[in-house]
Amino acid sequence: MANNLLSRSWVEISLDSLSKNVLAVRELVGNDCRIIPMIKADAYGLGVDNVLASLEACNPWGFGVATVAEGCHLRDLGVDKPIVVFSPIPYQSYREALAADLTITLSSLESLERWLCVSKESRTCGRFHVEVDTGMGRAGFDWNTVDYWGEKLRMLAKRDQVVWEGTYTHFHSSDTDLGSSTEIQYERFCKTQRKLSQGDGMYHVCNSAAILVKPSFRADGVRPGIFIYGGNVGMSGQEPEPVVSLRARVVLLRDVEKNTTLGYGASYRSKGQERWAVLSIGYGDGFPRKLGNRGETLIHGIRVPIIGRVSMDTIVVNITELQGVKIGDVATLIGKDGGQAITLDEVADLAETVSYEILTGLTPRLPRVLV
Ligand SMILES: *Cc1c(COP(=O)(O)O)cnc(C)c1O
Repeated sequence: MANNLLSRSWVEISLDSLSKNVLAVRELVGNDCRIIPMIKADAYGLGVDNVLASLEACNPWGFGVATVAEGCHLRDLGVDKPIVVFSPIPYQSYREALAADLTITLSSLESLERWLCVSKESRTCGRFHVEVDTGMGRAGFDWNTVDYWGEKLRMLAKRDQVVWEGTYTHFHSSDTDLGSSTEIQYERFCKTQRKLSQGDGMYHVCNSAAILVKPSFRADGVRPGIFIYGGNVGMSGQEPEPVVSLRARVVLLRDVEKNTTLGYGASYRSKGQERWAVLSIGYGDGFPRKLGNRGETLIHGIRVPIIGRVSMDTIVVNITELQGVKIGDVATLIGKDGGQAITLDEVADLAETVSYEILTGLTPRLPRVLV
């Protein structure tokens, strides 16, 4: 625990655990498979600058981002490997993407025509991957109509202004549905692949959950995300090393009489004489508001309940049962303290969301501390 820190609250990132997790992915997919770590949303909130060097442990082929700005930032950091922008981007951003040598992903013939035009004008070879929609529905060429678009795509891509670097699909339920839907999507993708043949680059389909549950689907490359950052992927049985801890300091202690109300809405009322500790973290730091009167934190390795609503800048815990808490002590909202742990996924479950949203929700107000 980075106990010597002066901050009121902070995020701790274990780079050692992060490296172990990417190495576990390498172990699962073997040496011939390309790994494209997903580092969108500032590496799931951890800070791309913090994690980039550790990701090298798995010898990545390239990196996956969601926006042109994220890709440009990576180039600024000196990354010269392929950078694939996996979300659809507006045509207005094509020029900037090309200038930074980003690979974009395409879901329509019109978007390829635009990419061709921009590449031609700039006299630069634009790279792209084709997304195939096998059930996700939000983007991609419809797998059903490959006979139509496959042919046209091949004709357009033949011009030497562009390079068709890869073809991929994305699973919608690989973390919750061990069986059928992932297999059906995979089968649809294989059918599409057989129709496309030649000139369509590398094939890749697996996110974290699929890598763990269906390693045989690894194809030419895989796109791990949440597992690297310590999020559990449901039914796989293999747990990642926890990477992120969330800590806050005790900033006030209060001894209250019976019936003292607490917080917005006075949603908590003391049941007798109680001792409360005010912690310097709130939803303004990304701590989920849903955890009011619901979550727990660790102080001195003991679980204590969060009482009242989560405010923007503070929460309050009931430490009536716990002796010896002092102002300045560290509370753990996610992570280990003594023999106890509160996992990222426990917090996500209580907040009725997913670990992804908890991580990406941690705001810039929290310093990221590398341990
Ligand atoms: C975010 C993303 C991934 C990674 O998913 P995880 O569940 O975090 O492993 C893979 N592929 C695409 C296209 C993505 O957008």
